[in-house]
Amino acid sequence: MAQSPHPSSVPLLDVKRDNEPLREEFITALTRVLDSGQFIGGPDCQLLEQELASYCQTQFAVGCASGSDALLLALMAVGIEAGDEVILPSFTFFATASAVARLGARPVFCDIDRESFNLDPEQVEALVTPRTKAIIPVHLFGQCCEMGRLLEIAAKHQLQIVEDCAQSIGASYGGVACGGIGRVGCFSFYPTKNLGGFGDGGIMTTNDAEVADRLRLLANHGMRPRYHHQAIGLNSRLDSFQAALLAIKLRELPRWTRARQENARRYQQMFAERGMTDLCAVPKVNVDGEHVWNQFTVRIQGAARDAVRQQLAERKIGTEVYYPIPLHQQVCFAYLGYQTGSLPETERACAEVLSLPIFPGLTAKEQATVVDTLADVLHAVRPLRKVA
Ligand SMILES: *Cc1c(COP(=O)(O)O)cnc(C)c1O
Repeated sequence: MAQSPHPSSVPLLDVKRDNEPLREEFITALTRVLDSGQFIGGPDCQLLEQELASYCQTQFAVGCASGSDALLLALMAVGIEAGDEVILPSFTFFATASAVARLGARPVFCDIDRESFNLDPEQVEALVTPRTKAIIPVHLFGQCCEMGRLLEIAAKHQLQIVEDCAQSIGASYGGVACGGIGRVGCFSFYPTKNLGGFGDGGIMTTNDAEVADRLRLLANHGMRPRYHHQAIGLNSRLDSFQAALLAIKLRELPRWTRARQENARRYQQMFAERGMTDLCAVPKVNVDGEHVWNQFTVRIQGAARDAVRQQLAERKIGTEVYYPIPLHQQVCFAYLGYQTGSLPETERACAEVLSLPIFPGLTAKEQATVVDTLADVLHAVRPLRKVA
């Protein structure tokens, strides 16, 4: 196991720790692909697609170049066009919204539920207009959105649901795995995700054979047969090296997910034992399903978050702010005309959130270091806190 560079340092994420035990298997696979001479498509990609579909309990999975492309391709495949409106959270990574805007459609930002950080279904319905074509629930930090209500709203208004599962591979809602709840599920293999690759990659899941076929067509230049273009597609494919390595990691994913869940439980317990839940809010699991803990995100109230993060960094504790600026306040989306204060829970979350280390290889001792250091820091900055 890799040693931390500082006696009490804890990284936010150490991918090397999870990859190290698989090193020999990776090298064997890389050598095999190298010698095969097939670098795009082929058996390694097919195998990963089959295994991923099986893991997500969907009928189909189609590889692509990134989670961002998965969202773009999914929206294209369900027929989103210029002038359409798509409802999505503003408290998410940029790619959720850029996929909508890139198609000339309008991102319509919806506020979030304070406890889950996910779309507030009651507010979603109020945003539906005759131009609304789709909803993109983002299962943020590894927990599914309140999909029951969203499915009802979608059925009532004939909307497509494209799930952003970039952070939630293996998560479920009411016994159904994410990616198979809406029309298409979009997954990312970016290295910080729960199934992290060795570069960029993504995959789309669906139970609809026609949509699966359309996704495959669009991800390969809309080309069928060769040099005949049925649609203006993209060049967005998963390569064989990536697929071969990901298939090895996918076999470890259930174990890694359990380790993340165990780490989350241990944090909850440590925060409670130290009486820290008054100083900072720990995440709650408030939907019926599996939470896969891509992030363990606490809230530091009273404008103290940045000071806390700074002091943790000085004491070598890795943290991150997912996300500091809501999408509705990004310069590139100024044309949409949102004012400050228009999505209060989103803006509040951006000011308060702090994600702590939760990767599978994190040790109990490291977790105790994180919690004890955070306790020290919170007590130190407390006198400086403004009352919000
Ligand atoms: C990571 C991420 C994406 C984009 O995935 P890439 O593979 O990096 O393109 C999209 N949505 C969310 C919520 C993400 O976390």
